[in-house]
Amino acid sequence: MIEKFSELNNPEMWYDQATMTTLRGWFGQTRKCPACNRVHSLHTRMMESDKNIAMNIGQYLAVLGFRGSCLDVMDERTKDAAGDALKQGLAAFRPKAVVYTRRDLHADEQALGTLLMGLRDKPNFLFSCGSGTLTDITRYNSFITGIPFVAFATAASVDGFASGSTPLLVNGFKTTYPGVAPEAIFYDPYVLAAAPQKMTAAGFGDILAKVIALLDWRLAYTVEDEAYCPLIAALVDRAVEDCLNLAGDLAVPSGQTTPDQLKKRAAASGRLMEILALTGMAMQMMGSTRPASGGDHHISHLLEMRDIQMEREGSLHGDKVGIGTLISMVMYQKLFAGSAMPRQRPVLAADIWEKEVRRVYGPLAAHALATNQPQPPQGDVWDKQKQLLERAMQTFGFAAVERFKTLIPLARDKILAMDGPVRPDQLGYTVQDTYDAIAFGKEVRPKFTILRLAERYGWLYDLAEEISAGLPRGDLY
Ligand SMILES: [Zn+2]
Ligand SMILES: [Zn+2]
Repeated sequence: MIEKFSELNNPEMWYDQATMTTLRGWFGQTRKCPACNRVHSLHTRMMESDKNIAMNIGQYLAVLGFRGSCLDVMDERTKDAAGDALKQGLAAFRPKAVVYTRRDLHADEQALGTLLMGLRDKPNFLFSCGSGTLTDITRYNSFITGIPFVAFATAASVDGFASGSTPLLVNGFKTTYPGVAPEAIFYDPYVLAAAPQKMTAAGFGDILAKVIALLDWRLAYTVEDEAYCPLIAALVDRAVEDCLNLAGDLAVPSGQTTPDQLKKRAAASGRLMEILALTGMAMQMMGSTRPASGGDHHISHLLEMRDIQMEREGSLHGDKVGIGTLISMVMYQKLFAGSAMPRQRPVLAADIWEKEVRRVYGPLAAHALATNQPQPPQGDVWDKQKQLLERAMQTFGFAAVERFKTLIPLARDKILAMDGPVRPDQLGYTVQDTYDAIAFGKEVRPKFTILRLAERYGWLYDLAEEISAGLPRGDLY
């Protein structure tokens, strides 16, 4: 058992082991971790990429031991992008296909049922060809039927490819269901580079979120003893750094590019995909979303819920997550301004909290009220947590927040260069939508994040007001 404030809990101490080689060593294995002494399992057995890999996919599948027939899962767009090459590559497996034609495809009851009906010939394995939604539809059917699946990624837009759980839209509400990770992940860098630019920006936003996820996670370990692994944190941390260096090449415009630009863009898209898959595998190994999601994702979930309530066509996951990350960085800065601990302010009264949760969550309020405490911990419990927090901030927190000063403008400019959004109003959200997302994103899950931290010091609702009003004016970044 490592002492909480030991240097051994600093991800930087594990950087030399936090490599793709280490991760590949875990493929298909269950092993004891040298950093946290827990056992981590990785279901995924292979990850390969190459130009035109789709045409040669059969070789890899044979190595993995696949036999018999397969069913492809795609939509019209991904069929155009890779369908023909896959037909050739999968020829030995007598491929049939379910091709979605819906424009607003979600992983919902109808989409899940469509695939289930396509399984009547009992294929030996499923082959998803697409980004997050198609992978999730396949993942859940794979989990339920026990038919294994392989993922072919056509856009580097989200970190969920390698994940072991499935976000589904059930009766219009986003809910996490169980699932299974793919046996293997394949991608062609040139196919990724040809995906719409905004999808790449979304993938970048989903990676950027790890900056907050990792800080939230280490603080949650300090304050609430949540399970933590510095090696997995180091894997994700190093991946984020790599991703920031890639952004220049990712932003190359897709139209009228020179062969050299295209080559660079393909290389950068391939690396972004590898990083996205890596963070998905970090979630698999930890058995939770902690290494990849914090307050940033809670803010984005609330914005997404607003789209569903308003029956608006939603934006990409990574778009909202990138915005949630920028907002979370600003919150950390404001809460710990001048590298000092915040002054305690009064917390929100329980009855007002309940009224507000009912207003924001509408028909979902009962669930939110049942899974959250009306007030944060106070008295001795909070005093003890505050002492731990102060020590944590001195050990690593203040330095992390200090870095946000340069990271915020850097991230903003890189997202903008990729045609991605950096403020909620750019996606059509009102000041009220943004306030609700910051102030009540925390009720999505009872998990310690920057949002909870601000709540405990009594700053959350003031910060939500200040930030939501300041964002459209461009006051904050
Ligand atoms: Zn570990
Ligand atoms: Zn995400």
